Amino acid sequence: MTKSSNEIVKRIKEAYPNPKIEIEFTNPFELLVGLVLSARCRDATANKITKELFKKYPTPKHMKDATIDEINELISSCSMHNNKAKALKGIAEILCEKFNCEVPNKFEELIKLPYVADKTANMVLSFGFNIPAVGVDTHVLRTANRLGISSSKNAKKVEEDIKTFCPKDDWIVFYAGLILLGRYICKAKNPLCDRCFLNDICPKIGV
Ligand code: SF4
Repeated sequence: MTKSSNEIVKRIKEAYPNPKIEIEFTNPFELLVGLVLSARCRDATANKITKELFKKYPTPKHMKDATIDEINELISSCSMHNNKAKALKGIAEILCEKFNCEVPNKFEELIKLPYVADKTANMVLSFGFNIPAVGVDTHVLRTANRLGISSSKNAKKVEEDIKTFCPKDDWIVFYAGLILLGRYICKAKNPLCDRCFLNDICPKIGV
């Protein structure tokens, strides 16, 4: 780590010592479902939906026995609910067929599930299992670009650049901090640089 990378990591950790994602969950299955629902849908909407959804289908076992229509009805306020209902049913079936009705804790297995790509798999690993990983969403990508951590617009490359930039033990707290930084300070339009705790050391690339 360089002196400046060290300082950026230190300040992110100080600003967000215990960062949480906004999806509400109590176990890896709930997290996975919440993340699937939150794709192109507000986290608050996904949280509202899962409250009702988990009352009826609290586990993969319950969800696999539901029909797609039954799931669809409960998630109809979510964008792309038809596809997501199919995906949730498919996920629940695979979890029960192959993983004893549990969410696997391996990246290679997670990304084979319907509707699950790298970002979701990494978020399930990091927040569901506390396994070091880096999930790159739009906030992580933007803040990593502006801070000069990565010059790429490709999420996979940004993930690799963050992993090089930051010690492995800090991957989770760091990228979770970038999500909060991007959401509340380093906004897509009109970043609040004058209120940002990184203002004096940020190269502000592209701002
Ligand atoms: S100083 Fe500005 S560009 Fe840099 S991280 Fe903060 S808000 Fe973003």
